[in-house]
Amino acid sequence: MSDDPLRDALLGAGVPVPAVPTIGADTEGPCRHGHAHGHAAADPFATFKPPMPTRSARRAATPARLLRENAHDEIYEKIYVAILEHRLHPGTKLVEERLAEIFGVSRARVREVLARLAHEQIVELIPQRGAYVAKPTIEQALDIFEARRLIEPAVLRRLIETLTPEKLARLRQHQDLELDARRRDDKRAVIRLSGEFHSLAAELAGNSALARNMRELSVLTCLIILLYDAPTAISCRADEHSQIIEAIARRDTARAERLMLEHLDHIESSLKLDATTEDVDLEAIFR
Ligand SMILES: [Zn+2]
Repeated sequence: MSDDPLRDALLGAGVPVPAVPTIGADTEGPCRHGHAHGHAAADPFATFKPPMPTRSARRAATPARLLRENAHDEIYEKIYVAILEHRLHPGTKLVEERLAEIFGVSRARVREVLARLAHEQIVELIPQRGAYVAKPTIEQALDIFEARRLIEPAVLRRLIETLTPEKLARLRQHQDLELDARRRDDKRAVIRLSGEFHSLAAELAGNSALARNMRELSVLTCLIILLYDAPTAISCRADEHSQIIEAIARRDTARAERLMLEHLDHIESSLKLDATTEDVDLEAIFR
C-alpha cells in the first residue's frame, strides 16, 4: 500500500507497479474474459477472439501510432475498471498531472482520455477546477434505471433472435466467472462482473448503439450503487443472471424480458433513491 491513494486506486493497492505501465493483473482478467472495455471501441469483436498474445509480444510488432492508441485505451480502461470495481469513488478529483505521472504519458494524452470519459458521462469536467469522477444525482439515477428498463428488454429480444451456441457459451462463461468471484467473496470482481453481464448481453445482441449505451449505463449504475447503497443493498443477484440466461437459452423472450425488468427493480429498490435524502431542507433544520 503506497501513500498515494489515486495511484493505488488506478493500479491496485499493494500490487507492485512496474516502471512502465502495462496491463495489470486486474485489468488483464476482464479483457481476456471478453467484456466490452476500451478496445471494444476500436474493435467490437475483439472480445470474441481467442486469448490475445501478451502485450509485450504485440508491442514488438506494433507501429508507433498504434502503440499510442493502445496506450490511450489502456489508460481509459484502467480508470473505467477502477470505477467499476469501486476503487475510484464518485467525486474523486482526477488530477491531469498526477495521472500523466502514474501512467507515464503526456498531459495531452490524459486530457484525451478524460474527454472521452466525460463524453460518456463517467467523468465530469468542471471549468477552472478539473476532472472529477461523476456523481450522479438521484434524478439522474432514476433516469438511468428508466433508460435501462427501455433498453434491456430490447437487448434480450435481439439477442434471442440472433442467438448462436457461441453466444450462449459466452454468457455461461461469464456467469461462471461471476459465480466464482462470489464463492471467493471477491466483492470488487463481483461488482465489475455483474455490471459487465449486462454490457456483454448488449454486445452479443450485435447492435453497436445499444451496446455503447449499455456500457455507459452499467458503469453509471456502479457509481449509483456506490453513492446510494442501502445497508442491505445488492448489485446484481447471481441467481437472477442465471435465470435470465436460462430463459435466453430456451429462446423464451417474454420470460427473459420479464426477469430482466424484475432484476432491474430489485437493484433499484435496494438503493436509497428517496429524494428526501438529497434535498435536505436546511431552513427547516436550523430554524
Ligand atoms: Zn444484473
